[in-house]
Amino acid sequence: MFTAENTTAWLTNFAGKIEANAAYLSDLDTPIGDADHGNNMARGVTAVTEALGKLSDPDLVTVLKTTAMALISKVGGASGPLYGTAFLEMAKAAKDANDTATLLDAALAGIEKRGGATTGDKTMVDVWVPLVADVKAGSLTKDQIKAAVEATKDIEAKKGRASYLGERSVGHIDPGSQSSGYLFEALIETEGI
Ligand code: ADP
Ligand code: MG
Ligand code: MG
Repeated sequence: MFTAENTTAWLTNFAGKIEANAAYLSDLDTPIGDADHGNNMARGVTAVTEALGKLSDPDLVTVLKTTAMALISKVGGASGPLYGTAFLEMAKAAKDANDTATLLDAALAGIEKRGGATTGDKTMVDVWVPLVADVKAGSLTKDQIKAAVEATKDIEAKKGRASYLGERSVGHIDPGSQSSGYLFEALIETEGI
């Protein structure tokens, strides 16, 4: 179950993982992209923690909406609107529900709708689809997260910048899948969600 408190803790943990791994994320984006994913995400999560820090006793919808706005306005690139939409759709769903399954389903549906990608396109969707299912089954582990991220290596990109490389995109982890992996790692480390 998501609350304003545990969601803030989740996002703060995520921000730390992105900041610690920004160089790695940009390295992943070098052979199959434009080498900016770590910088894009680091800029975004810094804006998120700043914006959340300014709220006093916010409700869950406000936490999620503030996060979405910071990501949309600061990340840039393809990933900004995608992560932003995920949190915006969670905020909308949080008006009527706060259970983990409903909110994560809303986030994933937002990413799929915004980006038009499906499983097998070598995007963050390849991590979100199996991991949301695992969270809902109450069985998500770090090994599963790692496996889902690693599995994007063997896929030929059909969406996003990496798709320009065609079959030369094979053999490289998708950077947005790795950053999404950190989001799910932070999620399972957060008490109560
Ligand atoms: P850009 O490619 O504009 O430089 P980033 O490097 O920040 O943006 O983000 C790239 C990541 O965005 C990819 O690794 C992929 O996971 C994700 N992505 C790109 N296009 C899509 C899409 N259409 N649907 C879902 N995810 C996508
Ligand atoms: Mg990039
Ligand atoms: Mg870019």
